[in-house]
Formats: sequence, structure tokens, C-alpha cells
Amino acid sequence: MTLDTTLNARIIDFGRGVFTDLDTNEPSPLNLRYLNTLLMRWSMSRPDFKVDLFRLVDVLPTLKTDDAIAEHVREYLIPSANRIHPSLGWLIGLCKSPLLVPLTAFLVRNGVQQMASMFIAGHSPQAALPVLRRLRKKRYAFTVDLLGEFCVCEPEALEYQQRYLDAIDTFGETIPSWQEGTPIVPGHAGEKSPVCISVKLSALYSQTNVLNFERSVAILSERLTEVARRAKKYGALLYVDAEDSGNNSMIYESFKRVFGSPEFIDFPYPGIVIQAYAKNSEIRVQEMLAFAQQRGAPIAIRLVKGAYWDYERVISAQNHWDFPLWTKKESSDAHYEHLSRILLQNHEVCLPAFGSHNIRSLSHACCYAEHLGLTERDFEIQVLYGMAEPIAQAFMERGHLVRMYIPLGELLPGMGYFVRRLLENTSNESFLKHTFFDTEEVSNLMREPRMHTQDFQALTIAPKPDDLVPIQLQNVQPSF
Ligand SMILES: Cc1cc2nc3c(=O)[nH]c(=O)nc-3n(C[C@H](O)[C@H](O)[C@H](O)COP(=O)(O)OP(=O)(O)OC[C@H]3O[C@@H](n4cnc5c(N)ncnc54)[C@H](O)[C@@H]3O)c2cc1C
Repeated sequence: MTLDTTLNARIIDFGRGVFTDLDTNEPSPLNLRYLNTLLMRWSMSRPDFKVDLFRLVDVLPTLKTDDAIAEHVREYLIPSANRIHPSLGWLIGLCKSPLLVPLTAFLVRNGVQQMASMFIAGHSPQAALPVLRRLRKKRYAFTVDLLGEFCVCEPEALEYQQRYLDAIDTFGETIPSWQEGTPIVPGHAGEKSPVCISVKLSALYSQTNVLNFERSVAILSERLTEVARRAKKYGALLYVDAEDSGNNSMIYESFKRVFGSPEFIDFPYPGIVIQAYAKNSEIRVQEMLAFAQQRGAPIAIRLVKGAYWDYERVISAQNHWDFPLWTKKESSDAHYEHLSRILLQNHEVCLPAFGSHNIRSLSHACCYAEHLGLTERDFEIQVLYGMAEPIAQAFMERGHLVRMYIPLGELLPGMGYFVRRLLENTSNESFLKHTFFDTEEVSNLMREPRMHTQDFQALTIAPKPDDLVPIQLQNVQPSF
């Protein structure tokens, strides 16, 4: 799985260029991002404070009164604040004074809402239009996701589906008339429409369960068909997101059922997501490439590393199941590069979309494409809105189509998404943290990743998709 040295040298050189171009200027104290940067930096240097702060953010939408907020601020933050400095604990303790309770609640609510708005573009499709237009003006493509967590009953699932149908109507009727930034990369397949949505299938059916595989797939396919029909009406693009490994087998099956049907053979580049951290991800890639070939029309494949590592770790340990993912971060990085090469080699049947904020992973994809003689039209780069704009900008300015993944929704369902973004930004393993917050040597960050021996051994005995142990016993929240 190792690269030839000339190609690796080219990747390192390319990545160094990207690092040089990053606009990492500190935001001014008058900018919203200033507070965010300060809080992130502070919480990363104080892991216990970070946990307490994120617990407070997580619970905030359920706190209905000012008193409840002030009480939780005291309860969650004083112990870790005291460990930093007793005077800080004392200062936070002041918020119990009746005069300061409303002010504390106001500051906490507004601060958290403003931070969340950096990752969530609006509460409704209509409200998000100015943000989408601004991005298009800056020459970014986008894909919009509607936040929704814990779908526990059918009315909720159907309401979620309806929100997708309404969102496609709003976007389909408005966005194609915009002149801004069109086309970003002429002739690129991802430019067939400026309207693109990403769908989380498990939220479309409340009883999705692998123990009820056939019925789950039948209902998910039926509901996805409705969404795809509406997208087709406007010629819009669509991605189906990957979730936890319990749901994924049903997600892949539903995707194939819908987009392999005669009604959707002419649907342009239906997109699916594959997670490189999964031991069976190469088999998934082969399965999807074979599907595209059978279909006789190309699909899009977004390659990500995967957002459910901690969740899967806990569930498999609890149940004494085999862990379905790589155990070391470097193994996921190495496998990501391996799968990137397979996707690029098969660009005739798939449009590879590299979803990552890791400059090494993205530089590898760009340089391998160049090595194969491909152009910017043959693949795209995808990033999460609000996470790594300097990186997005550096790749966009090099002529690549960069698509931003944009969540929309109310703060309450969006809070889970927001907390996960905070965790991702501050995780010790995160490339972003090393890029923007640590002064880790660029040569370290650009080093070729190698698969860990233990993971490499697992690679040779990875199960086929059909042999996978069903590992979902409960409905879990979509989690990236
Ligand atoms: C546009 C876009 C769309 C996305 N869509 C999806 C989606 O549909 N489904 C989904 O699951 N995720 C999705 N993600 C999230 C993605 O899977 C990653 O969580 C995120 O991008 C971080 O990976 P990175 O390459 O940017 O950063 P890096 O910092 O390079 O990598 C972090 C990743 O490494 C992996 N990792 C961390 N620790 C370990 C370990 N000990 N052992 C093995 N692996 C480890 C995890 O996957 C972690 O997310 C999406 C991301 C983007 C940018």
C-alpha cells in the first residue's frame, strides 16, 4: 500500500504549498469567530473544562428558564473552573445572584447560538438562501442536509421526509436562476445542477433495524424514491449519507434499489458515502463500482473517514462484538489514500468526492489524479460548512470544485450536530486541531500514513458485506 517516492515527494510539495496559502489570520476581537477561537483554544488546553463546557452546550436546549441555565452553569462549570483558578470559580458562582441570573442566561443562550450559527446555515431553507448565495458568489458548490435526530415515531419520520420535499422545492425554484459563480469548474459533472442535497436515510423511517432488514429496506427505498422523484423534477443532485455500521447495510441496499431502478437510470450521478475507517470499506467500494457498471450510468462516491468511531467502540465493547473499524487513526488515513486511488482509477464509472479537512489526504487525492492524467473535472473536494474555510479556499483557488456540506435546522435538533463539530475540532487526533491550534511541523502532518500492523492483519481477513454481524439493536442518532 506504499506510494512510489516521486509521487510521495510531489504530494508533500503540493501540501506544503497549501499550508503556505492558508489564511490562518486570527479573527479580530470584534468578530464572532474570535470568541469561538478563544473558547476552543482554552478548552483544548483544559480537557476537564472542555467536557463540562460541552455537557452544558448539549443540555442547553432543554433548559427552559433563566434559573435553570444559571443553575447548570454553576453546577457544570465551577468545579473545573476552581481547578484552573479559585477566583474563576468564584466569578462563575456570582451568576446565582438574582440580579445576574437573567444576564447569565442571556449571555449563555446568545453565545451558544452564535457559535452554532457558524456550523448551521439557517433554521429553514428560505432562511439559508442568503448564505448559499454568498457561498456560490465565492465560487463554492454546496450540498444541503436537514438536521434531524432521534426519529422515534412515524409522524416524525414523515414530517422529516416532507421537510426534504419542501426544501427541494424551495431550492429548485430559486437557485438555478442565480448567475453567481456559474459555472465554477466548466464541464464538471458536479455542476450538472447547483442544487444538491444530502439525505440521512435512517431518519426517514422510525423502525429502521437490521433485524428487520427486508421491511426496513422496503420502506427506506419507498421514502427515498419520493425524495429522488422531487429532486429529479428539478434536475437536482443527491447524496445518501453513511451512518453507523448497523444502519449502513440497509442504506447501501436502499441506495442500489432506488438508483438501479429504471425510473432513476437517468438520475445524474446519485451519490453514496463510504467510510474508510471501516474494515469492509474496500469491499463496499468494489460493490458500488460494480453497481455503477451494472447500472450503465455513473454514480458519485463521497469518500470520508467516518464519524461514528467512538459510538461504534462503545457499542461493540458493550456487546462483545468484533470491532468493525480500524483501531488506529493512521490506519484510517492510510486506507483513505488506498481507497482514493481505487476511486480515481475508476473515474469513468464514478465521480470521486473527497470529504475531508486533512491536507495530506486531500493533497494525495489531487496528486494521484494528476499522476493518472486526470483533470479538475474528474473529482471534487467536499468540506463541512464552518469547519475549515481556509483549507476550502486554498483548494478552490487551485481550480478544484469544492462543495460545502451545509446543515440546516433549528437549534434543538441541531445541538447534537454542533457538539460533535466542537468535539471534532478539539479532538487530540484531529488534523484540524494540529493544523490550526498546534504548531505541529508541516512535515509531520504531510508524512505518508502507514497502516498499523494489527489493522493490516485485520485487512487480510476482513469480512464480506454479507458476512457482517448485524450490530444495531437500537435506533441511533445520525451523528456527523
Ligand atoms: C463533506 C463531508 C461530508 C461528510 N459526510 C459523512 C457521512 O456521510 N458519514 C460519516 O460517517 N461521516 C461523514 N463526514 C465526517 C467524516 O467522516 C470525518 O469524521 C471528518 O471529516 C474528519 O475526518 P478528516 O479526514 O477531515 O480529519 P482527520 O483529523 O484526518 O481524521 C479524523 C478521523 O480519523 C478517524 N479516526 C480517529 N481516531 C481513530 C482511531 N483511533 N482509529 C481509527 N480511525 C480513527 C475518524 O474517522 C475521525 O473522524 C463528512 C465529512 C465531510 C467533510
